[in-house]
Amino acid sequence: MQSVRLTRASAIQPVVGRAASKNARRYTVMTMAGLKVAVTGAAGRTGALVVKKLVERKDQYEPRAIVRNASSKSKLAQMGVPESAIYEVDISTGGAEAFGKAFAGADALVIATSAVPVLKPLSLIRVFWAKLTGGKAMPDFGWKEGQLPEQVDWLGQKVQIDAAKAAGIKKVVLVSSMGGTDKENNLNKLGDGNILQWKRKAEQYLIASGLNYTIIHPGGLIDEADGQRELLVGVDDTLLKQTMRSIPRGDVAELSVQCLTLKAADNRSFDVISRKPDEGTPTKDFEALLSGLQGNCDYSINSQW
Ligand code: NAP
Repeated sequence: MQSVRLTRASAIQPVVGRAASKNARRYTVMTMAGLKVAVTGAAGRTGALVVKKLVERKDQYEPRAIVRNASSKSKLAQMGVPESAIYEVDISTGGAEAFGKAFAGADALVIATSAVPVLKPLSLIRVFWAKLTGGKAMPDFGWKEGQLPEQVDWLGQKVQIDAAKAAGIKKVVLVSSMGGTDKENNLNKLGDGNILQWKRKAEQYLIASGLNYTIIHPGGLIDEADGQRELLVGVDDTLLKQTMRSIPRGDVAELSVQCLTLKAADNRSFDVISRKPDEGTPTKDFEALLSGLQGNCDYSINSQW
């Protein structure tokens, strides 16, 4: 399979062309105005941080923000995304045509959509009672109609991958989740949604699409400062053995942006967590981080295909 790699725009290299060697496996796509990057789930907690980073690097990137509904549009406009670059697409109503419009002419896509579980408030009574009586209980979650993981994380990502391919997008970065090797993972029990199973199915669909991909499996997401921690990468959920298995959303956002253009991120699927801020050296060289990781996640484990 021929791999297409995006390179960040440079004012001194206004080139649209292919690598010199006749047998070169990689093409370089460069634009004067910067990489046009569509971000879905752009109003979400990680998606918004990806957009923020792209806006801050406007010499390199032209972000497009795709949000679920009109109420999120002003949030993105306030972040500096031009109104003409904010698109509204609700996956639960299909989305193929609307994603097609949003992705037209884009170079790359970051997928940060995901089904959002809804807490069942009455279940908290059981949780409080368990606490009072020295027991343990977890709250119950459900999903809004049309917003189940099967619909958002599988069909909703499939429609984005198809639309990306049809629009000629060259690179897709998918923010997914660690835990997908184990169908018994507790996250699958959340609202009986099997969320990791559906995410894994979408990942396998992306890999089969022939698009240049990077699939990121973060550990538990936390809202703490980014750029302060050493990141650890791995495959096949081996990092779940670590005692600290979380990572700031901002670090996942930075990694997503870096993976748009890093050679070592081409056609890779990997897990990522972070050390505590006072342990290790904050990761700055993402190419070194990823080129130091041997292999990719093995989708013959708990295959959803
Ligand atoms: P998030 O804040 O929950 O954002 C999810 C985004 O998906 C939101 O922007 C939401 O739109 C959008 N979305 C949901 N349903 C949609 C629909 N029908 N149509 C269009 N958009 C829709 O995400 P996050 O917590 O930052 O997580 C980012 C990713 O990491 C997710 O895939 C998540 O599963 C994964 N992850 C999470 C954890 C964790 O600890 N929470 C750990 C590992 C991996 P609205 O803005 O309109 O709600």
